[in-house]
Amino acid sequence: MLQVVESFGRIGEENAFAVLARAQELERQGKSIISLGIGQPDFKTPPHIVEAAIKSLRDGHHGYTPATGILPLREAVSADIHKRHGIEVSPELVMIMPGGKVTMFMAILMFGEPGAEIVYPDPGFPIYRSMIEFTGATPVADHMREQNGFAFSAEETLARLTPKTRLLILNSPANPTGGVTPKAEIDKLVAGLEKFPNVAILSDEIYGQMTYDGYVHQTLLAYPQIRNRLIILDGWSKTYAMTGWRLGYAVWPRLLYEAARKLAVNSYSCINASAQYAGIAALTGPQDSVAAMVQEFDNRRKLVVAGLNKLPGVSCVSPRGAFYAFPNVSKTGWKAKALASTLLEEAGVATLGGPDFGIYGEGYLRISYANSAENIEKALSRMNDFLSTRKVA
Ligand code: PLP
Repeated sequence: MLQVVESFGRIGEENAFAVLARAQELERQGKSIISLGIGQPDFKTPPHIVEAAIKSLRDGHHGYTPATGILPLREAVSADIHKRHGIEVSPELVMIMPGGKVTMFMAILMFGEPGAEIVYPDPGFPIYRSMIEFTGATPVADHMREQNGFAFSAEETLARLTPKTRLLILNSPANPTGGVTPKAEIDKLVAGLEKFPNVAILSDEIYGQMTYDGYVHQTLLAYPQIRNRLIILDGWSKTYAMTGWRLGYAVWPRLLYEAARKLAVNSYSCINASAQYAGIAALTGPQDSVAAMVQEFDNRRKLVVAGLNKLPGVSCVSPRGAFYAFPNVSKTGWKAKALASTLLEEAGVATLGGPDFGIYGEGYLRISYANSAENIEKALSRMNDFLSTRKVA
């Protein structure tokens, strides 16, 4: 009998991929399915980025690259951070990653072990908790509250830190809620972190360029007093509609950079070379497609929030970032996951149940509005028919 190490019994996953598979299966059976489940832009990668990748292959960039990424790309990341935030980050601290996710994988591996506590947002991206449990560390859920616009509360987050806390995970703009934590709250949080000098901070800023209603993303890089223990997770997946390219970047504190580089050398060696050339084109080329995509998401956001608030038993606060809405469905009488799966099977609308994002996700659905306005309207109409007629199972 094979004996896989015990920690694999504790590793989780993302239900979004299972729902996508089920939705595709139903479509194969001839059913009409509208997908509001998966978290990826429904736009194509802008053509100049695709062309740069093709050119790099024609130019012969077929070999290994440095494990931390090619220098021109690391320099382009530094320049981009400077352009967007006015902050200096040395290219020596930038590491190109195979997607944003691997940064959280590495950071949690670096700080998670039995006896350690890691604080993470709940509802939040499911891989945080999955990886914390995998390492044997204790996951400490930081409740993101609807009445707080699903933003972090500095006071509550700080109250969860103990002498055992090794890592604090922050995510704004947030998946699955669209919550954006305002600067004043982050100022307070960082001030409070001075009392916890041994706590590393992982700030997942992958949706940093997607905010609405005048809300501005506040990067944690803006606080020099925590830079020696701050890990930034960012990348191209969402901003440039490049989820399938597997391209992201981390900014590591000097102290952790070597550890991250060694993890890369021990696992994936380096990032696909042509994807890195595409990454340069994305950062240094025209940004109008980013602005156009965010504008389109904003239009759909308004449509989806207005529509959800008209559904029987449903209320939805306006998300301030990312491309998700997180409606409260507790008054429909349905448990969230049962509602999500029955909506998929009977009404042909794929959503995710809030509990896929943590214990505090009960009573909510996650709606990804990365779909056309026409499909969103159709989905809302199907949900309305369903909730008006279908008895609670
Ligand atoms: N962080 C958050 C909050 C996300 O929602 C996602 C993707 O859905 C990621 C990280 C991972 O991004 P990538 O596809 O670049 O690995």
